Parts: sequence; structure tokens; C-alpha cells
Amino acid sequence: MNPWFHSLVHLDADAFFAAVEQAADSRLRGKPVAVGGEKRGIVASASYEARRFGIETPMPTVRARKLCPQLIVLPGDFDKYERFSRWMFSYAYDFTPDVEICSIDEGYFDLTAVRRPPLEVAATIRDAIRQSLKISVSEGIGTSKLVSQIASKLRKPAAFEFVSPGSEVSFLHPLPNRWLPGVGPKTAERLDAAGLALIRQVAATPVDWLGLLVGGAAPQLHRFANGIDDRPVVPASQPAKSYSQQETFAQDQTDEAYLDAVLQRMADNLFAKVRADAKSIRTLTVKVRYNDFAEDQVSESLVEPTDLETDVYTRLNRMLRRAWRRRVSIRLVSLKLSNLYDGLAHPELPLDRATVQRGARRRLAGIVDALRHQYGHDILMRGHDFVLRRGEPAFSPLQ
Ligand SMILES: [Mg+2]
Repeated sequence: MNPWFHSLVHLDADAFFAAVEQAADSRLRGKPVAVGGEKRGIVASASYEARRFGIETPMPTVRARKLCPQLIVLPGDFDKYERFSRWMFSYAYDFTPDVEICSIDEGYFDLTAVRRPPLEVAATIRDAIRQSLKISVSEGIGTSKLVSQIASKLRKPAAFEFVSPGSEVSFLHPLPNRWLPGVGPKTAERLDAAGLALIRQVAATPVDWLGLLVGGAAPQLHRFANGIDDRPVVPASQPAKSYSQQETFAQDQTDEAYLDAVLQRMADNLFAKVRADAKSIRTLTVKVRYNDFAEDQVSESLVEPTDLETDVYTRLNRMLRRAWRRRVSIRLVSLKLSNLYDGLAHPELPLDRATVQRGARRRLAGIVDALRHQYGHDILMRGHDFVLRRGEPAFSPLQ
């Protein structure tokens, strides 16, 4: 490969949660294993042995059990998955700092500046992960995020696909439209109905026409369909992806109920973004800054990722009280949500009796998001919104 071409690798672990469980416990290897909730649960990850029985993700665990009575169902252990994830990406960091971690088991790395041939490096990383972590990964190698990502997913598991420079278009064009980033099931259906089932057909459609089908996404979609993608690898370095908000008060605050309401409102705002991005998060950080500018903070990780603010309201109050160590008034509070997970399958974990209620709360959250998007935040008020409506309390010294 010529050095003036970009060489990007997309790495995607195969059946990650289930694979980690099998790696961590040799008795599970070669067996049908699912990670998910037992009773009303959903399968979030299934080993390839389980998939042979027709088990897919997400699928109700009850149904998976019917397909495969000997299925071993394990609750999620996210601390373990995150540990494996860090180890997995550490093998990429051995070769380049240009690593973009997109989710717990997916990321890109840029080998353009690495002297050794990219295929050799990608193979070394894959083999090291397989040998030391006992998990299988798929890799796609190409000149852009677009082709490397598709290449890694096209023939899983243990895929190793190279799209050589110049062959991007011939690689993309025979594929169904749903392989293009941003084409979800609904868009795919609309494109299919318009006779644009293949990427080749999308590529040949004028942008204006595409606009009638997909709106503002048309120019980007058209570029992708023609193999054009200059999105860079953004090293996930120091500030890892997170959602955060802070508020500085006009007057130093000592009113815990008010501060609590502020944090809950922040959670409302931030989780709406988390949902809009189809993510979930597992770690919360509450920080306070005192009137002398000293700061204290606490972080807590949930047992399982969530995309619902209603899951964390009471925890936020507890965290505020833990963070507020000194008996000093507060000038600023902030909330950060980090440790991102992809998609909505994971929050269904580990599904207990509360699952049905969670489903209802998630639907409600979707409705609230839509209403607030259209009419503004105040169309729906929760308890803390009324607290905040009274305005910032005047300073009163701590008792
Ligand atoms: Mg994966």
C-alpha cells in the first residue's frame, strides 16, 4: 500500500460479552452462552455456539431457551467487559496513539504513520488479542472509516478484510443500502421502495432526488455511496466521550434541595442527548466547587448501563451529599455521564422483575423527548422542575 493513502483499521470484537465470559471461564468455551436477563430478560450477547441454534440479539431470553434448552444464560458483568475492552485496545496502542474507541468493543485506529505494513500490524493486533485475551475480533482495513467499518462487519466472526486503495467503490456498490452509516431500517425501507436497494443505485441518484427520500442526510449519504469519506480518526485520548453539564450560581448555595433539583435537571438534559445518540452510560460523576474554588467530586458506576434519568435521581442526591464534604457553600455543581455503551440492548440487562416497568419508562422518556423537542423543556414538569422554577435561593449560611 502506498504511504500517501490513509490506512485505517476498524476493529470489532465478535459476540463480545459472551466471548469475554467464555474467555474468563474455560468451562464455557465451546458451549452455547448468552449474556442477558433470565426471566423477562433479553439476550444482549450470544456466543457463536448459541447463534447456531438461531439465537439472535436482542431476543427474549425465554424464546432463546426454547430454541436451545441447554443455553447457559449469564448476567452481565460490566466491570469485567470494561477490563477486557481496555486490554483489547491496549494492543492497538502498542502501535499507534491514533485510536478512536467508539464503544466498548469497537474502534478505529489509524496506521497511516506507522512504518510497518498495515496488514501486518492489523494481523499482529488480532493475533495478540486472540492469544492473550482468548477473544476473537474482526478487522476491516481500508482508506476510510466507511470502508473499514463495513469490511469488518461483512463476514464476521474473525473477519480480516482488506479493501485496497482504489477499490472502495467496487467494494461498496454491490452491497445493500443498509450498510451505509445512517441508514437504519426505516430509511432502508424507503430507499428500497424507491428502487434504491443497492449502494450502486444510491450513488447514481442525484442528491436532490435523494433529498426527497432522506432529507438533509442526502449529501452525506450520496458521498458515502460514492465511497467518499474524509472523517478522521479522532483519538479518544484524554477526555473520553462523555456528556456533561455544569452550572455556576449567582449566589453561593447551601440549599441541598435546590442543588439536588439542579442535578436532576442536568440529568434530564444529558440523558435526552444520550438517548438521541442511541447510547447508554454506566458512570456518573458529581462535582462541587466551593466558594473558595476548591473542588470535590465523586464517581459511581451503575451495575448496568442505562439511558434513563429516572434510574439515577435518588443516586444523584446520595452522590451530592458524598461530594459535598466540607461545610462550605457551593459555587458550582456539575454532572458528567461517561463510560458509554452503544445502543439500547444493554440497558435491558440484567433483566429482573422491573423490566416491564423499565420498558414503560423508556417509552415515556421517548415521548417526553419528543414533546420537549417540539414545545420546550417546560411542557412537562417533574418535581425538581418546580423547585427550580422558584429560582435560585438567596444565600443562607450553613447551620
Ligand atoms: Mg462487536
